[in-house]
Amino acid sequence: MKQITVLSGKGGVGKSSIAASLGVVLSKEKKIVCADCDVDASNLALVFGINEKDYKKWEPISTNEKAVFDLDKCISCGKCAQTCYFNAISFNSDKKPELKKFGCEGCGVCELICPVNAISLKKVNNAKIGYGISKYGFPVVSGQLNIGASGSGKVVFQVRELAKKVAEDSEIIINDAAAGIGCPVIASVVGSDFVIAVTEPTPSGFSDLKRALFMVNHFNIRHGIIINKFDLNNEFSKKIEDFARKNNIDVLSKIPYDKAFLKALVKMVPVVSYEQKFEEIFKEIAEKIVRNF
Ligand code: SF4
Ligand code: SF4
Repeated sequence: MKQITVLSGKGGVGKSSIAASLGVVLSKEKKIVCADCDVDASNLALVFGINEKDYKKWEPISTNEKAVFDLDKCISCGKCAQTCYFNAISFNSDKKPELKKFGCEGCGVCELICPVNAISLKKVNNAKIGYGISKYGFPVVSGQLNIGASGSGKVVFQVRELAKKVAEDSEIIINDAAAGIGCPVIASVVGSDFVIAVTEPTPSGFSDLKRALFMVNHFNIRHGIIINKFDLNNEFSKKIEDFARKNNIDVLSKIPYDKAFLKALVKMVPVVSYEQKFEEIFKEIAEKIVRNF
């Protein structure tokens, strides 16, 4: 089983639309699963027209812990609040500690510092994972971090594990990563066989692309670039192509700006299903990647 991860340093460049279209095209030749690894803002299923109610099953998961106080033991010394880096502890009118809403990151420092062992860490449900079947026949696995919860990287790991389980005989998993270069993106990239970095021809798109590729290079994963909306700024697209050439990176495709991307999102279908002309573009991208395996 091969894993392709689609990422973008910058948000809003069309990453999920591209991941979904690639999924549709690849599914005609291979058995695939798509995994939405953007657990903070999960929406890949919506691109495929799968609503939350259509999911097979949502399962609550726990990838994080929170501090719990034994108030009978507490001597109100205040050390836990003084040492909490996240400023997550306040004191009530009885001078007893309590957690501020959304504050605790589960780091465990307060547990270590408490002189009377009045603090312990307890598992909390911080996310849910599940999957639905797209109308193209392949599963789309998603994870959703609870509002204000932390531990997104570990939730991504659980999403990827579920993707392997729901279709054990799949040949390809497509991971749609979050934007940026943070923990959930790293959790999406690690162990991938190929990374597609989607960018747009803007200074911020180019800058974020370079940061994302620095991270991908760190893990020594083969990769290629897709320049979306390349014709919005031909001069900047050329800069990205020059950068790719100098660094020996394949430009897998240059996709012109097209309102069809937005219209397809409104209709909840991948752009390749919305307009026939995209079929060739995505077929070519898929062939280049499969050749790289
Ligand atoms: S576990 Fe860490 S973040 Fe949570 S309250 Fe204790 S010190 Fe603060
Ligand atoms: S460190 Fe322990 S004893 Fe001190 S205030 Fe916090 S919970 Fe209470």
